[in-house]
Amino acid sequence: MGGAVPRQRESSRDRVIMHVDMDAFFVGVELLTRPELVGRQVVVAGSGPRSVVLSASYEARALGVGSAMPTTKARQLAPHAVYIDPSHGQYRKYSQKIMEILGSVTDQLEQVSVDEAFLDVTGAIRRLGPPVGIARDIRRRITEETGLVASIGISSNKFLAKMASTGSKPDGLWLVPGSMAEQFLAPLPVRKLWGVGEKTARILHDAGFDTVGAVQEAPYSLLQRRLGKAAGAHLYELCRGIDERPVVTERVEKSMGAEHTFSYDTDDVREIKSALLQLSHDVARRIRAAERRAYGVAIKVRDENFHTVSRARALEQGATTGREVYEAAARLFDDLGPLPCRIRLVGVRAERFDAHDAGRQLSLWDQASEDTFVHEAEWGQAESTMDLIWAKFGPSGLRPATLLEGTISPRYERKQEKVDGSRTSDGQESEEGPSRQ
Ligand SMILES: [Mg+2]
Repeated sequence: MGGAVPRQRESSRDRVIMHVDMDAFFVGVELLTRPELVGRQVVVAGSGPRSVVLSASYEARALGVGSAMPTTKARQLAPHAVYIDPSHGQYRKYSQKIMEILGSVTDQLEQVSVDEAFLDVTGAIRRLGPPVGIARDIRRRITEETGLVASIGISSNKFLAKMASTGSKPDGLWLVPGSMAEQFLAPLPVRKLWGVGEKTARILHDAGFDTVGAVQEAPYSLLQRRLGKAAGAHLYELCRGIDERPVVTERVEKSMGAEHTFSYDTDDVREIKSALLQLSHDVARRIRAAERRAYGVAIKVRDENFHTVSRARALEQGATTGREVYEAAARLFDDLGPLPCRIRLVGVRAERFDAHDAGRQLSLWDQASEDTFVHEAEWGQAESTMDLIWAKFGPSGLRPATLLEGTISPRYERKQEKVDGSRTSDGQESEEGPSRQ
């Protein structure tokens, strides 16, 4: 009726999965700059009337304060706690450091949230030794390099690893062998199972099942009758520690490129730059979609004799907008000098990625002119809006005016003059289209 009773696949018993989860992450980051608050009730929460708790120290948790609780309720429960406004930029910075440490252990890494990740270390064991040693090393490195504390659960799948890390907190490390799954889970209240919601827990409670052990005794068909076919089957698996989901690694592209072959070989610099501009926007859209920032831009130019040159330059500030990518691409193109013959193809590539929100330093340009930085932000926002429209209506929905006209916009040129006064001639040159013949 309800299908075959689920069983753990033999092949998945031998996997070694870790769940790394920072302890009270936001609070931990705040305490780095406020060591006098260590050991006290600390709550990171918004201060608005409808704001909620983002993180609470274990001392505040002891009073019942928890994540997602309205701040007003937290203040009733813990009136003497120290309430701190979240500083998201800092959390992202530390999150990135932590993920870098985890990424150095294995590329089989699935980041689940800002402070949590699964690692499939099955393949890393031969290189790095037994899993407990790997986990100890990860915990030590995170604390040494960030001052923060991570708890780690190790088991044969994601569900068990997550249950193990939760059980080990705070400042813990717990290995649950896959063969021990049922014993490990049996004493837990049903609602503690990762993936079991309140509604399911209530139905089970009403049916007389309060512990996972009790559910383990229940026949498969009974669970399906009580909870529905899918939810019943799912719970049957969970309470036995069966979970076949793989660690899904985000394949981070090393570079993102786009090329354009002209319908006729051309030596019209305006046409070539127009293509570079279009390609720059295409590439920038992908950079933003991947939430990256490119610290390098390269161009490729192939002439009518199939002779190809590539040039690359590093960007001091990461690029996310088509304008920034184009600025670098156009300069690389200009630096090639006069065209010896007609051009068949051009390409633009962005490379050397970093996470999008990695603390962006103001360059000397920006410090000299705040106006420029605002301009920058506006551009980013304008292009993000374009991404939304693009996603909805496709490429024909919206393009920068420059692309429609096939010329370089005066606004762009002004900006280039402003940010780099020593090269005002560039601006002039591009606007008119330099003669290269
Ligand atoms: Mg956490």
